[in-house]
Amino acid sequence: MKGLTIIKTEHPKEKPAKGAKLGFGSVFTDHMMLMEYDEGKGWHDARIVPFGPITLSPASTVLHYAQETFEGMKAYRAEDGRVLLFRPEENFKRLNISNERLCIPQLDVDFCVESLKELVNLDKEWIPEDPAASLYIRPMVIGNEPKLGVKEASSYIYAVLLSPSGAYYESGLKPVPIYVEEEYVRAVRGGTGFAKTGGNYASSMRAQEVAHSKGYSQVLWLDGVERKYIGEVGAMNIFFVVDGEVLTPELDGSILSGITRKSMIQVLRDKGYTVTERPITIQEIADAYDAGKLNEVFGTGTAAVISPVGELKWGDKVMKINNGEIGPISAYAYKTLTDIQWGRVKDPYGWSVEIGHM
Ligand SMILES: *Cc1c(COP(=O)(O)O)cnc(C)c1O
Repeated sequence: MKGLTIIKTEHPKEKPAKGAKLGFGSVFTDHMMLMEYDEGKGWHDARIVPFGPITLSPASTVLHYAQETFEGMKAYRAEDGRVLLFRPEENFKRLNISNERLCIPQLDVDFCVESLKELVNLDKEWIPEDPAASLYIRPMVIGNEPKLGVKEASSYIYAVLLSPSGAYYESGLKPVPIYVEEEYVRAVRGGTGFAKTGGNYASSMRAQEVAHSKGYSQVLWLDGVERKYIGEVGAMNIFFVVDGEVLTPELDGSILSGITRKSMIQVLRDKGYTVTERPITIQEIADAYDAGKLNEVFGTGTAAVISPVGELKWGDKVMKINNGEIGPISAYAYKTLTDIQWGRVKDPYGWSVEIGHM
C-alpha cells in the first residue's frame, strides 16, 4: 500500500492455543501500526512494525494532561475463513470527532481503514477460531510534545494494537446487575462525554470500584447537572423496553455515540419496533417498573454487543428485570447483529466488510 512501510517481525510469538481462555486485552499480536505527526509536516512515517514498547519523553503531553483519544472495534473470522470488519469507517470518523474535541489533528479516514486492513491481514492467524471470540482492535492517538505548558501538543503518535479476545460471555448471554450512580458523574454537557478519550475513563473508575464492592458489575450514569436523566453505562449505551416501545437516551453531547447503538436502532426499526431517542429520567423508568411495564433493559457496545441488565439499583429501590432473564428483543437484537458480524447471514446493510481470507 502506498505510503505504508511494513517491517515484519523476525521473532513471531507463539499464538494462544485453540480454546485457550483469552480474556480481554492482555494478549497482543506480532505487529502494530505506528504513524507520527509533526506541526508543519503533517502525518508521516506510517508503518507496520513488530509489536513492542514505544519510548516517550517523561514530559510528553499525554502523560500530564491526558491529550489522548482511542477507538475500539473488532475483526471477525467467519466459519468459511473470511476475515471481516464491522463498519470500520464509522470508528475512524468518530476518532476524528474525538480528535477535534481534544485539539488533536484530523486523520485521513480512508488511510486509517486501508492501513488497518493491511495490519489485520498480516496478523490474521491471530484471529481466534472459537465461536464468539474475535480480534479486538485498538487505534489510539496521543499528544507527544515534550513540554509542560498546558497547550495542545505540536507532535502526536497514532498507533493501532491488535488483541485476540475471548467471547465476552463464556456461558451465554448473562444479565448483569447495574448500580445507578447518584454521587459521581461521568460527563456534563459541554464536556468530553461524546469523545472516546482516556480522561472519561480515569474519572469513572472510582464509581466503578464502589459499585463492584457492592456486587454490581457496572454503573449507570445520570446527567451531571440534575442527576435525573439517564446517560449510559460504563463503555455501553443503554436501551429500555417500556410497554413494547424501545427507548434510548438521545445524543446530547454527554454520551458516546455508539456504533452498536446506531446499528441496533436501525435493526430494531427495520423489524417494526418503535425506537425513540429522547431524554429519559430514572424516575420514569422506576414508574414503568412499578406499573409492570419495564419489559427489558440492555446495554450495547462493541465488546459485548448486547449486555442484558437483570437488576437496576437506584437508591433503596431494586428493580428486577424480566426475572433476570434475557428478553425477546435483546435476544433478537443480539442474534441479528452477531450473525452479520460473524458473516453467518447475508448482510442487508453493507456493514460487514470482507478484508481477506484465511
Ligand atoms: C466505546 C463506548 C461505547 C460503545 O460504543 P460502540 O461503538 O458501540 O462500541 C459506549 N460508551 C462509551 C463511554 C464508550 O467509550
